[in-house]
Amino acid sequence: MDLAAVGNDVERVIASEEDLKNKIAEVAAKVDKDYAGKDLLLVGVLKGAIMAMADLTRAMQRHVEMDWMAVSSYGSGTKSSGVVRILKDLDRDITGRNILIVEDIIDSGLTLSWLRANLLSRGAASVEIFTILRKPEAAKVDVSVKYVCFDIPSDFVVGYGLDFDEKYRNLSFIGVLSKHMYE
Ligand code: IMP
Ligand code: MG
Repeated sequence: MDLAAVGNDVERVIASEEDLKNKIAEVAAKVDKDYAGKDLLLVGVLKGAIMAMADLTRAMQRHVEMDWMAVSSYGSGTKSSGVVRILKDLDRDITGRNILIVEDIIDSGLTLSWLRANLLSRGAASVEIFTILRKPEAAKVDVSVKYVCFDIPSDFVVGYGLDFDEKYRNLSFIGVLSKHMYE
């Protein structure tokens, strides 16, 4: 879905389809290089990371495995609470695996710092993080993110997997949701 289809619901574009394609290709090449000769399991966080997973893996030039988790941080609206609940767990054992978590966005970083610790506690050999977007708040939490496509301001954004009330995930770009949509 394009900008024209959502009219003034979106205030401005943060990353166009072209921006996303170019940046993901660049980061995918780094991932290929960093994991050369090593096994790699990509863990996507549903539902926001679906587009990121689809495009990252297709830009990579090696075999990867993919698995998915669905987690929910309690709370509603546009703020995250940091209390995490697993809605869908991994299909397979991860003992000794090199894991790259694929995320759409890191806001407070609370969800990811919890997830990273959770995967390490199950015996993963390594757990790194790939994210399309990172907000300034994330820098305050002690969670190291190896691959960031774009650092953005703390506005609420939608598109390319990111939703507001389950809508806008299928936008081909990422944009700032107009304040009149939720205020
Ligand atoms: P964190 O725990 O604060 O890092 O929150 C991460 C989760 O909150 C993301 O995976 C998103 O589901 C959601 N989230 C945070 N900021 C935004 C946003 O700007 N748009 C859409 N979802 C967001
Ligand atoms: Mg999410």
